[in-house]
Amino acid sequence: MGNIVLGIKDVNKNFGGLHALGDINLDIEEGKIHAIIGPNGAGKSTLLNVCIGRLEPDSGTVEFEGKNMIGMAPYEINHAGMVRVFQTPEIFPDLSVLQNVMIPALAKRDGVFRFNAFSSMGANRDIEEQAIHTLEDLGLGSQIHDHAGSMSRGDKRRLELAMGLVQHPRLLLLDEPTGGMSRHDTNRTIDLLKKIKERGMTKITIEHDMHVVFSLADRITLPDASQ
Ligand code: ADP
Ligand code: MG
Repeated sequence: MGNIVLGIKDVNKNFGGLHALGDINLDIEEGKIHAIIGPNGAGKSTLLNVCIGRLEPDSGTVEFEGKNMIGMAPYEINHAGMVRVFQTPEIFPDLSVLQNVMIPALAKRDGVFRFNAFSSMGANRDIEEQAIHTLEDLGLGSQIHDHAGSMSRGDKRRLELAMGLVQHPRLLLLDEPTGGMSRHDTNRTIDLLKKIKERGMTKITIEHDMHVVFSLADRITLPDASQ
């Protein structure tokens, strides 16, 4: 096995009496695409939320590049290079498509995002160019000045992927990245994710669509919540 980017050890999470995660152990190898599959309610999103610091597990550790992330704030984990793209797109509907991608890029550069960053245009030309390039890469180049809120559901998912990619993550976590997409858009996203894989970025994807799993994944895990 190659270098382990993410090591999940004995992670347990209960919600009241509900055993959402039971002794999850998982090693994620550098440069690979690792798919986590399972039925609705199996705990897949919970596991990603634990990894990115949105939820604290009852026990267990999550080591990212050798450092335990448990107890760290989501923004600290994000800054360490672990970026999650959500199952339900979290975008800014009233801003343009381009501004949506510039926000995480500016936050990554400055450690914080200030809305007045949009008014100091010249100073952010490089960030704007990066954002445009990322959007073009994902086939959204013709929509950069549109309102993000008016995009189709599939395009919103691609926008969120752009918001993740522009941060140049070391580890990208995708929660059903093709959910709500047509077959055509799904195939396009598979091609994009394959292209990104060639750049050596490690990815974990949660999937319900076996066509996507078998097209992309190097490793497949089925967490068993019944333990
Ligand atoms: P999946 O992503 O595999 O569909 P989830 O991780 O979303 O599953 O949910 C696993 C189980 O935990 C489900 O039964 C869900 O209802 C429950 N659950 C998830 N988040 C919470 C929460 N914040 N509070 C209480 N129960 C939750
Ligand atoms: Mg889920």
